[in-house]
Amino acid sequence: MLHWTRFAGGYHRTMSLMNNANEADYPGKLKAVADALTAWEGPIVLAAHVDPDGDALGSTLALKRALEDLGKTALLPLEPPPFLAFLCEPGELSDPLEALPEHCMLAVLDVSDISRIDGAPTEGAAFVLNIDHHGTNDRFGDLALVQPGAAATAQIIKDLIDVLPVAWTEKLATPCLTGIMTDTGTFRYTNTNADVLNAAGDLMAAGAAYTEISDRVQRRPASYFQMLGRVMETLEMHEDGKISMAHVTQALREAYGEDDDSDDYVGAIRYIEGVELALLLKEKDDAVKVSVRARPPYSAQNVAVALGGGGHVAAAGAKLDGLGLTEAKERVLTAAQAEIRRHEGH
Ligand code: AMP
Ligand code: MN
Ligand code: MN
Repeated sequence: MLHWTRFAGGYHRTMSLMNNANEADYPGKLKAVADALTAWEGPIVLAAHVDPDGDALGSTLALKRALEDLGKTALLPLEPPPFLAFLCEPGELSDPLEALPEHCMLAVLDVSDISRIDGAPTEGAAFVLNIDHHGTNDRFGDLALVQPGAAATAQIIKDLIDVLPVAWTEKLATPCLTGIMTDTGTFRYTNTNADVLNAAGDLMAAGAAYTEISDRVQRRPASYFQMLGRVMETLEMHEDGKISMAHVTQALREAYGEDDDSDDYVGAIRYIEGVELALLLKEKDDAVKVSVRARPPYSAQNVAVALGGGGHVAAAGAKLDGLGLTEAKERVLTAAQAEIRRHEGH
C-alpha cells in the first residue's frame, strides 16, 4: 500500500503498510508455526531487528533455547546492549554471519520488514519464518505469524512454546518475561492487557524472577544519567504542551560513549504533564533516528509511517537518512503536529 504524506515542502511517498488486524485463526497459525519448527531438520538461524531491544533479544533467546530443548541446531547472531547482557550465557550468541548455512530456516522475530534484520544475510535461506507484532509488518517470508494485538513478540513466543513439545524452565521463562516487560514498560503502557499479565504469571510460575528482571533492565551506567541531564536541556514543548521533543547530538553521544543506551530517554519526556506525543531525535552518523511515543487517541505509528518508519500505535520509530538534525527536527515536528491536529478537526 502506498501512503502519500503531506509535509511542509510538498508530498512525500512512503511504502509502509499499516495492518493492525490480528490473525484470523491465531491458534491455527501458532500450530502451523510449531509444526514447521518441529519438522525442520536443518539448522535454524534466529534474527531480530537492528539495535536489539529487550523484546528482540528476549523473544529470540527464548525460542533458541526451546529449539535446542527439541534437539535442533539453532544460531543467534546478535549483539545485545549492555543492560541486557545478563540474559545470555557465555558462547550462546554468535558473531554476525557472512552467509547462511545450507538448508537453513531463517526465523525472523520482532522485525517489521526484512531489511531491518541485523547479524545475518537475508539471502540463501531455504525457508523464512516471520513472527512479529508490528502493525507495519509487511508479512514477508514463507510463513508469517503477525499479531499486532500482542504486546510483544515474546508474548507470541510464550504462546508458541506452550504448544511446542517442550517443558517450561526458568531458562525459557526469563528471556520471555523480559521481552514482555520491556515492550510494555514493565506493565505500564497501553498494550498491557489481561493476556500479558496472565502470561507473566505463568512465566513467574515457571521460574522467571520478576523483581530481579525489573531491577536489571532499569540499571544504567552513570554516564547514562549524566547524558540524560544534557539531553533534558534540549527539551522543547509544542502544540500547547501536547508535544515534547528532545534530541541527542552525535557529539554528545561521543562524549558519553557510543554504547549510550539512550533510546529510552523518550520514556521520560512522555511523562511530562499534558504530553500526548513525545519525540526523541538521535543523530547517528549520516542519519537521524526518531523515537515516537503516544497516548490514546494519538498514534505514534501514524507519525512514524509519515516519516517512512513503522512500529505500533503507542510506540514507533523512523530513520531519516541524509538529513541534518535541524531539518530532521522540522520534519518530525510537522508530522507530529499533523497527528495532533487530525484529532482537532483542523
Ligand atoms: P524505538 O523508538 O526504537 O524504541 O522503536 C519503537 C518501535 O518502533 C519498535 O517496535 C521498533 O521496532 C519500531 N521502529 C523503530 N524504528 C523503526 C523503523 N525505522 N522502521 C520500522 N519500525 C521502527
Ligand atoms: Mn523491538
Ligand atoms: Mn517488540
